[in-house]
Amino acid sequence: MSLPEIQITSRAVDRIVSGHPWIYRSDIREADAIEPGSVVRLVDRRRRFWGQALYSSQSQLALRLLTREDREFDRAFLAERILEAAHYRSRIAQGAQAYRVVSSEGDLLPSLIIDRYGDCFVIQTLSQGTERLKSIVIEILQEHFSPRMMVERNDVAVRSVEGLPEQKGVLAGGGECKVRIEENGIQFEFDLLEGQKTGGFLDQRENRAAAREYARGKMLDCFCYQGGFALTMAARCESVLGIDSSREALEGARRNQALNEIRQVDWREANCFDFLKSADHDGLRFDTIVLDPPAFARHKSNQEAALRAYKELNLRALKILNPDGFLITCSCSFHVSEADLLEVIASAALDAHRTVSVVERRTQSRDHPILITVPETHYLKCLILRAL
Ligand code: SAH
Repeated sequence: MSLPEIQITSRAVDRIVSGHPWIYRSDIREADAIEPGSVVRLVDRRRRFWGQALYSSQSQLALRLLTREDREFDRAFLAERILEAAHYRSRIAQGAQAYRVVSSEGDLLPSLIIDRYGDCFVIQTLSQGTERLKSIVIEILQEHFSPRMMVERNDVAVRSVEGLPEQKGVLAGGGECKVRIEENGIQFEFDLLEGQKTGGFLDQRENRAAAREYARGKMLDCFCYQGGFALTMAARCESVLGIDSSREALEGARRNQALNEIRQVDWREANCFDFLKSADHDGLRFDTIVLDPPAFARHKSNQEAALRAYKELNLRALKILNPDGFLITCSCSFHVSEADLLEVIASAALDAHRTVSVVERRTQSRDHPILITVPETHYLKCLILRAL
């Protein structure tokens, strides 16, 4: 019952009071002899208790708040949090076979991601703190969900900021790493070890279903990965063209297409910027276009360049969209807000001489919770637009 203590500055206290879980190294007074990744008690100069946090000895983000409760954050507490998160999914992700069970800060478990793909779990422990809790997380998942297999996808660059190695592999159980999942009535195969992210882009699940409502005519899916939007929307379209620069992604897309016996879809390996440019030149026209690019602004310093890239993509898409067509346009860059994106698209619409209305303003699926006091948890924007 004797967790190590760290003294924090009044600025850190203010941050906690404002509902934000991150405390930077410059706001801690002393952390000598504290083991990397420990759960620590936070106290102010007068030793008043403010909460418990995960401590990182390497990152500038030195403390991630777990709770303001003065009850030791032990195995039982962790299990409660995970089960609470899972219970919420049982209400909002009903019928989904693949979804995010624990979404880091969004579930008050900063730097822990747990995705479920059918009877398998994929885990990311992105700080020293959750890395240290990994074996307990595995036990808790085993105890409550008896998964067939658990995989770690810690092959992500952010781990280096924590002094942790990039690694991936099977943590428990075994069998086939390619898992077949039905999403919105379509079969997808996810490769939990080799796919991008944890296998798939679960945050777009609800947007794929929403976008389907507007699909018609000739459809273009830019940045299609393994055909998420393309295959979900294909039944309503005459023809679909999916574009991605990754050959492996398109191999997956073709497998998924075959699984669903969908005929009217073609795939092309290309850079979407180049494709869109030549498409206009070649006179190609579409009735429904999806733009779901990777994050262009991972850092604030990239914001300007990212805005230019979004402008270019949306402008080119509007130029090849038929009158009364629908554009489903996304951004997963936290540093580009919805307001920024709308502004860029307004400017693209003017340049393209199109009248554009906003039909739906959407965000990440509900299994990726957005905390009102933690803006960083709101990263995905998905606008459904109609262009005259
Ligand atoms: N829409 C997908 C997810 C897209 S993720 C879904 O619903 O599942 C972004 C995709 O963009 C990745 O598959 C990546 O390979 C691809 N990509 C990244 N840069 C690209 C570029 N310049 N041109 C084409 N594809 C690109």
